[in-house]
Amino acid sequence: MFDNLSERLERSFKILKGEGKITEINVAETLKDVRKALLDADVNYKVAKNFTDTVKEKALGQNVLTAVKPSQLMVKIVHDELAKLMGGETAEINLKGQPAVILMSGLQGSGKTTFTGKLARMLKTKKGKNPLVVACDVYRPAAIEQLRVLAEQVGVPMYCELDSKDPVSIAQNAIKEAKAKGYDLVIVDTAGRLAIDEQMMNEISAIKEAINPQEILFVVDSMTGQDAVNTAKEFNERLNFDGVVLTKLDGDTRGGAALSIRTVVDKPIKFVGTGEKLDALDQFHPERMADRILG
Ligand code: GDP
Repeated sequence: MFDNLSERLERSFKILKGEGKITEINVAETLKDVRKALLDADVNYKVAKNFTDTVKEKALGQNVLTAVKPSQLMVKIVHDELAKLMGGETAEINLKGQPAVILMSGLQGSGKTTFTGKLARMLKTKKGKNPLVVACDVYRPAAIEQLRVLAEQVGVPMYCELDSKDPVSIAQNAIKEAKAKGYDLVIVDTAGRLAIDEQMMNEISAIKEAINPQEILFVVDSMTGQDAVNTAKEFNERLNFDGVVLTKLDGDTRGGAALSIRTVVDKPIKFVGTGEKLDALDQFHPERMADRILG
């Protein structure tokens, strides 16, 4: 994950090795490399520019105060700013509500259904929750089947209505069922499209209105880089979601989405998917991610 970015950043800090102090010149040279590394990792242009401007200001400002070597000082500042860029604090999901309702959103293929299974498993095993997962994709029977199989593997019940073409009433009925049977968590998987379209956005907005979820998560494939960020922006404008799930971080993703999304949509990344298996899910910790990026 982010191997190329890590390598490139490490190389850019080498410019400062052997330098006695931080100067305008050696900082500018280092940060030129850092910015290139970020852009090559598919980080949004404005995000990369603001990032290096902030690091420059801090580096020049702190220089007089410290006996630390310039390269170490730069690594520390870049680390702290990377963590800030990704949100700083770990963001929890809201599980209040009887039942708590979580609504999934995102494009088809982003990993929504897989994440629904993974999240049910995580909250069942780690938080002692009793979840019901709901299939609201009325267009693709295969999607319902996929969730059924995942639910079975996780050992949680699944709600679907094979004859219904109305995702809003399916979601409402699922919540009634959860209340009647005592499930304390409902995770609603929704239909995705290959690209954003009006019908899809209207449908998920209608589900949101009808079920008033505690938490709306936007699921996005981290391999899609800048597109991930643009899609996030559009979904957020329509849904005002609560958090982002970045999937496929196990692939050769370059890091751009993880580093840009927070700034662009001002919503925290809450989870990362790191594989196809059901246990390949982590809560997102900005500090730890910054540690990983800097090796
Ligand atoms: P949906 O259309 O949004 O529901 O997406 P799916 O859950 O069907 O996932 C699409 C594909 O991505 C499937 O082949 C999943 O196994 C795969 N996938 C989902 N999450 C991850 C992940 O974190 N890592 C990897 N490598 N593959 C994933």
